[in-house]
Amino acid sequence: METANLASSPPHISLKCLPALLSQITLCEGTHDQIAVAAPFTGETAGTIPATREADVDLAVEHARSAQPEWASRSFTARAKIFLRFYDLLVQRFEEVLDLIQLETGKARAHAHEEVLDTAIVSRYYALRAEKLLRPQRRKGAFPLLTQTWKFRSPVGVIGFISPWNYPLTLSITDAIPALMAGNTAVLKPDRQTSSTALWAVSLLREAGLPTGVLQVVTGDGSTVGPALAKRVDFLMFTGSTATGKSIATQAAARLIGCSLELGGKNPMIVCADADVESAVSGAIRGCFTAAGQLCVSVERIYIHESIFGRFATRFADEAQKLKMGAAFDYSADLGSLTSRRQLAKVEEHVQDAVNKGATLLTGGRRRPELGPLFYEPTVLTEVHENMKVYTEETFGPVVSLYKFQTENEAIARANATSYGLNASVWTRNTSRGIDLARKIRAGSININEAYISAWGSVDSPIGGMKESGIGRRHGAEGILKFTEPQTVAVQRFPLPTNRIKLASLLKLLRLFPG
Ligand code: NAD
Repeated sequence: METANLASSPPHISLKCLPALLSQITLCEGTHDQIAVAAPFTGETAGTIPATREADVDLAVEHARSAQPEWASRSFTARAKIFLRFYDLLVQRFEEVLDLIQLETGKARAHAHEEVLDTAIVSRYYALRAEKLLRPQRRKGAFPLLTQTWKFRSPVGVIGFISPWNYPLTLSITDAIPALMAGNTAVLKPDRQTSSTALWAVSLLREAGLPTGVLQVVTGDGSTVGPALAKRVDFLMFTGSTATGKSIATQAAARLIGCSLELGGKNPMIVCADADVESAVSGAIRGCFTAAGQLCVSVERIYIHESIFGRFATRFADEAQKLKMGAAFDYSADLGSLTSRRQLAKVEEHVQDAVNKGATLLTGGRRRPELGPLFYEPTVLTEVHENMKVYTEETFGPVVSLYKFQTENEAIARANATSYGLNASVWTRNTSRGIDLARKIRAGSININEAYISAWGSVDSPIGGMKESGIGRRHGAEGILKFTEPQTVAVQRFPLPTNRIKLASLLKLLRLFPG
């Protein structure tokens, strides 16, 4: 396994920009406890963020609430202009945020690209489509000719966003964009590890013209700031683990507010007998090891037809072994580091547990401390069984298990034998059979001959989780409608009949109209 070097490729920007971003974006005043943010590449403290308190959250939500009516009264065109300008600024300034993403997450630079691309695409999509998606619609009236009915969509109010550390730009900003385009205002709580990426994005939105009160950021610990936000906002959009998602759902239920939850996964990939093996191998490399496997739609289980299992397993393990790992703020590394000690411990625990119970390591299975404190090799396992943690639990790291299947029905049954239902992929040369198989998998997005990018990147179509992978969807119409309240306004043009004869004639008349 080759390595890349941090010394030869230092970042262009450092977390020294944090105090300036914090003073520009957050409202918290006075002294606060400081939370240290460690850079995964080195383990050294790269900066600190304030541990905001309930009073700060209160202030942020109040500001967002008072900014909301004026923001909602602006035309779609006026709001869209800001997000189109944001797109242009991203094009000019993306190197800065690539550095911040790498500094805070330790991922390879090429993997940070996905976030910039996704944020730009989603921004443009909702800037150009929101008005059409939310346009008032004429509906069939109660009584033809007598009643004229309209369906309107109103913003919900102040939306609370809670986002994780693994895709800190995408997951902090891309859901907020449709919410804001719909006329809501918002308060965002990014993960404590990746607040500067979120703050940078909000400062760029401000530069693009977003008024101050419309999107606030509150930094700090999830277990204090999260519940404080959940108590105050009108709708919660959460991305993170299934365990925390369930607690968010409970808090939302207690206040009878809506919530949208994007949660964990244990995503399967099915490689059919007729698949192009080389293309499936390179797709699996991207699907399993992008962001060192710390990707919600990452592949953790691969089911391969028995006729090609040996060929696939050998080629895949070879390619995984060749990936160049390293801490580099340029493109010299194929794979970066894990983000936290917690993730490293979980990855080690899962691999050790599998190996102790008889799994075979085709490649990987080791830390690489000489590269940095959180590096772990891309790891491929076979002979994985039900009694092992990697069989059912989400690892969220560069670890994948290979399984052999005989029939496609068996592959589908095994792919579905999980409490999760986030993402999946099917590899075959027969696209229509691929679609038939896809429709049998219980997951919110299925990719044919790609691991995750084709479904995730199709932003005009919804994605999200079935089963314990979530509630609600992002992208497409569903990704903005959830931030609105539908409202019916019906105009009665003539009074309803009040005597028996008139009622009978009305009922006869109704028969003439289609249902
Ligand atoms: P997590 O649930 O621990 O944390 C996510 C966010 O919730 C963080 O901002 C955290 O500070 C906050 N939080 C923690 N406790 C809270 C509480 N009690 N109340 C409110 N907020 C709280 O998740 P994680 O482990 O950091 O992230 C990884 C998980 O997220 C994985 O399971 C992964 O699959 C999932 N994920 C899902 C998607 C998706 O789109 N479906 C995307 C990325 C990550």
